[in-house]
Amino acid sequence: MQNNIYEDIIKKMADGGIQSPRLEARLLIGFVLKIDPNDAPLIKSISIKEKEELDDFINKRLCGMPLDKILGQKSFYKYDFKVSENVLSPRPDTEILVEEAIKKTKAEDTILELGVGSGCVLLSILKETRGTQGIGIDVSIEALKIAKENAKSLELEQRCRFIEKNWNDDGFNDCFDKKVDIIVSNPPYIKTEEIKTLDREVRLYDPLIALDGGEDGLDCYRKIAKICQPIVQKEGYILLEVGAGQAQDVEKIFLRQGWAHEQTVKDLAGIKRVVILKNK
Ligand code: GLN
Repeated sequence: MQNNIYEDIIKKMADGGIQSPRLEARLLIGFVLKIDPNDAPLIKSISIKEKEELDDFINKRLCGMPLDKILGQKSFYKYDFKVSENVLSPRPDTEILVEEAIKKTKAEDTILELGVGSGCVLLSILKETRGTQGIGIDVSIEALKIAKENAKSLELEQRCRFIEKNWNDDGFNDCFDKKVDIIVSNPPYIKTEEIKTLDREVRLYDPLIALDGGEDGLDCYRKIAKICQPIVQKEGYILLEVGAGQAQDVEKIFLRQGWAHEQTVKDLAGIKRVVILKNK
């Protein structure tokens, strides 16, 4: 393949209906050739092996596999995270959960994340706060492997631990020897019936277990509201990502369990995205 490699890839991606063909072409070339993606337009030639790899990635992409799952990595907030088909891809929508959690965190606090997945939320918070400790819980051992790798590459291994646990199990709280200061979670919140209507990139490549929130999408919030109060310090917080239109219901669920509503924060699209509650 000679010349116009970049333009050829853009055309293939655009013809295949990819929304941001230029950006994705740069990222793909950058990844395969191990160069800065911004230098991708300058390349003049590639090896046969690189061409084969690029063609393979382009084919996967045109079959609907999301770019981050092809490359095995995604940028989120200020950092790069390893991802796989066993974790929910980090979304820009979730960065606001990180920002709000950082505001509520004091130096030396312990932060617990329920459903830690790739670790992108918990590890970003730890990275931005002084002397904090993290606990990441997930039911998926494969997800925890990814979270641990991300902790290692961000040099946070000494500041966090990961526990394989299902929050539906009896005795969930037994794994905490002391109370935490902050809980964060982006639990599964899609209504079961709506899963089949999601984009194929989400439906086929994000783990169902990270999406399915039950009949009304609120199952996990009900469960979390019930089990979490005994493990948070008095005056401690829980911050939850919620789906569009769910904020009020989630607030009510927690108020009923004796939590105090602190604040609900909108995302950049004006959707109520993060519900913050206080253990009064
Ligand atoms: N935000 C994701 C989506 O809309 C869902 C993530 C979740 O259920 N927590 O696809």
